Amino acid sequence: MRQRMVVLGSACALSSATQDNTFLFFDSPGGGLLIDCAGSPFHKLLKVSGEPGKLRGVILTHAHPDHIYGLPSLIHELWLWGREEPFYIYANLRTQRTARTLIGLFDLWDKPMPLELVPIPQEEGFLLLENDEYAIHTTPVRHLGPTNAVRVTPKIGKRVVTYSSDTRPCKELVALAKGSDLLFLECTAEEPHRVHLTPEQAGEIAQEAGGKELVLVHYLESMAQDPEGTIARVKKFFGGPVRLAQDFEAYAL
Ligand SMILES: [Zn+2]
Ligand SMILES: [Zn+2]
Repeated sequence: MRQRMVVLGSACALSSATQDNTFLFFDSPGGGLLIDCAGSPFHKLLKVSGEPGKLRGVILTHAHPDHIYGLPSLIHELWLWGREEPFYIYANLRTQRTARTLIGLFDLWDKPMPLELVPIPQEEGFLLLENDEYAIHTTPVRHLGPTNAVRVTPKIGKRVVTYSSDTRPCKELVALAKGSDLLFLECTAEEPHRVHLTPEQAGEIAQEAGGKELVLVHYLESMAQDPEGTIARVKKFFGGPVRLAQDFEAYAL
């Protein structure tokens, strides 16, 4: 099996009839990772032929509900499914606090599956995890509260992926994304905004980072209604291919 990145949701914090809040599944033979955790994660993993028993854990980029609210449901269903392997939750300290509250709220600590909380420091280009199949780096970006962008370097597949999480334009994101083959960038603002990107700014970041291909995620319903217009705005600044992510699309790495 090759490695792949699957879009489990592609909408911004306000979901739609066809798009859930943005979260991703990095699939790898020895065990993949969820990146953020929105609605019905266990169901969606099965739907895209992910193997719940092999999932290493989840990287939570920040504490906003659209990025984290599926966590207790995922833990609960993994328990019902019979998992006893440790499950890793990677998150910065602020986000860990929310995750701990959610886990405690539903009495999910004392299950046979141990929950291992691993901190993500607010350190640029931090190597969070490395094994025979992939390396994961994180970097702090600029949003509301501590937020981390994520870079996945596959060792079986060839395509490096960077996911911005939610952020305004920042040099930290450009540095993390440098030379990525696939860039998943948020696009949640029609006009320049203090915590999100416009299509033009997403294009500028992709161009500055030397990204090969740009996939917009976490975008507004207005952009979903006008994909050509949105792509034209991005292309004023970025010469490579651009598309708007759709739920359940898989990108081979
Ligand atoms: Zn968000
Ligand atoms: Zn957010």
